[in-house]
Amino acid sequence: MQLLIASNNKHKVEEIKSILSPYFTDILTLRDAGIDVDVAEDGVTFEENAAIKAHAILSLSTADAVLADDSGLMVDALGGAPGVYSARFAGDGHNDAANNAKLLEVMRDVPPAQRGCRFVTAVCLSKRGEADICARGEVEGELLNTPQGNNGFGYDPLFYYAPFNKTFAQLTADEKNAVSHRKRALTALCEKLDKLT
Ligand code: IMP
Repeated sequence: MQLLIASNNKHKVEEIKSILSPYFTDILTLRDAGIDVDVAEDGVTFEENAAIKAHAILSLSTADAVLADDSGLMVDALGGAPGVYSARFAGDGHNDAANNAKLLEVMRDVPPAQRGCRFVTAVCLSKRGEADICARGEVEGELLNTPQGNNGFGYDPLFYYAPFNKTFAQLTADEKNAVSHRKRALTALCEKLDKLT
């Protein structure tokens, strides 16, 4: 069975391939499938956005199934923001540096005990003619006042992960991938697939 991953991000694709290869004979990226499309992710939850993307890509492809994901950071003191708006939190001209600067600014007066946050990923596996199979993964952390570390991307330099006593930006890719929200969502998806077979 052929699976199309709704991403061209090299790191995501490698991670997804390594975890889902037991379930699919052939795994392609959007580039492999010749699909170049920007799907409007206008859902209000990560699950909705992952499903919107999976359905849009499935309708454009001949693959048997599409896997799409949507991720972001939820900060307790901000009622779950930036959430599905994580990539564009800083508004026009947003990028990782601007998003982090805005988050530091809005969290400036929040005391340490109230700086809990979590990264969240929703994955949606949409098989042609079948019901979607979706799963969620989360990892808990605390939001720092100053960035630390140079690895990773996005909000990683502000995300302190107590079990390793480091930010995600101070971890190697392998260390982060072992505990990440994406890994946890994919593992939860595999558990659902195992129950179905
Ligand atoms: P995406 O849905 O994976 O493209 O993630 C959307 C946005 O959430 C990214 O642009 C980042 O701002 C943030 N984000 C998602 N995953 C991570 C992560 O692992 N580390 C840091 N930021 C992340």
